Amino acid sequence: MKVLVINTGSSSLKYQLFDMKAGKVLAKGLCDRIGLGHSFVKQSNDNGNNFQKEMDLKDHHDAIKEVIQMLTDEEYGVIQNMSEITSVGHRVVHGGEKFYESALINDEVLNTIKESIDLAPLHNGPNLIGIQACKKLLPDVPMVAVFDTAFHQTMPKRSYIYALPYSLYEEKGIRRYGFHGTSHKYVSERAAILLNKPYDTLKIVTCHLGNGSSICAVRNGIAIDTSMGYTPLDGVPMGTRCGSIDPAIVTGLIEHDNYDAAMLNDLLNKQSGVFGISGISSDFRDLDEASKKGNERAELALEVFSYSVKKYIGSYAAAMGGIDALVFTAGIGENNSAIRKSILDGLEFLGIEVDEEKNNLRGKELDISKPGARVRTLVIPTNEELAIAKETVKILKK
Ligand code: ADP
Repeated sequence: MKVLVINTGSSSLKYQLFDMKAGKVLAKGLCDRIGLGHSFVKQSNDNGNNFQKEMDLKDHHDAIKEVIQMLTDEEYGVIQNMSEITSVGHRVVHGGEKFYESALINDEVLNTIKESIDLAPLHNGPNLIGIQACKKLLPDVPMVAVFDTAFHQTMPKRSYIYALPYSLYEEKGIRRYGFHGTSHKYVSERAAILLNKPYDTLKIVTCHLGNGSSICAVRNGIAIDTSMGYTPLDGVPMGTRCGSIDPAIVTGLIEHDNYDAAMLNDLLNKQSGVFGISGISSDFRDLDEASKKGNERAELALEVFSYSVKKYIGSYAAAMGGIDALVFTAGIGENNSAIRKSILDGLEFLGIEVDEEKNNLRGKELDISKPGARVRTLVIPTNEELAIAKETVKILKK
């Protein structure tokens, strides 16, 4: 059984082909600069071969055609022909309120994804184009949509209703949705397996810390709260996104400084976060280096980030009545031991005790807690593509 996982962005398309029986990735690749000129495709195969080709990719249809070509190519390919692809899993960012779980793609599902475009125009638009292009090229292959929002759909109303006029929720769907759901689900399930405890008995806080960051509270196998909101801008400060701020800052900038929607979108999404505070970089490696050299704003950016994550952990411990496991994942969560340390310093009162030596280890899945600690603190590499492939198989089996 070979599952192709597709993650479409506005001008890029990432893909991975899984052999589910053998439990391995046969090839992974990226089509970039779609529709922008100087497009290219690069692919790395499990046998260690890497390829890159420049070509004109006018649109996502061209890109998916090229993906199939690369996967079946005599020289670059990993399969003989495209009939070996048994199913396709698509990452879809926004499932709105309709999708509690992944869905087999049919006309009804496609229409519902279309209806959610207004909620996430930057993401769902390209996701839909990717699905439609795939449908044309692989008409007989079943396809599954795996939503970033689905895992969070179990949140109780008190977690997702904003204190705005209720009509905005009823008429326009303005509420907290949450994102990175595939990752939060994957690492929280892995945590239960690593701890050898039933998933539905645990209180887990998962910290997905990458360019985009979000925290999630998972009680008894169900997401009950998360830091991202109506859009992925809410919550902790990120690489270039501001996270939660006082909304009066926005109205003030409109009233007094002539900001319009495009300027505000750019300011809040691209000029803010740790990049905005430091004025140096959105990459935590650069900030670590600058801070070590005495750059105070780089140090401040790192402190603001860790302090915000620490507060979410505390508030989710309060929401769940304690924590059994705390999980770090994604680029920063998996690799940056200094940030983990500064987030966790002072949380001993919750039962979180980390072994400094273990915290400095690098590896696959790690328990970095001190032996007798009440809370198990884990580092678990996320694997959203594998999770999408597994979901695809699960939905098709139903
Ligand atoms: P995205 O949200 O785009 O998937 P990532 O999960 O790759 O982002 O996270 C990017 C962040 O992870 C960067 O700030 C970077 O500093 C950090 N990071 C990634 N890899 C490493 C590494 N090997 N060592 C330290 N930091 C890393």
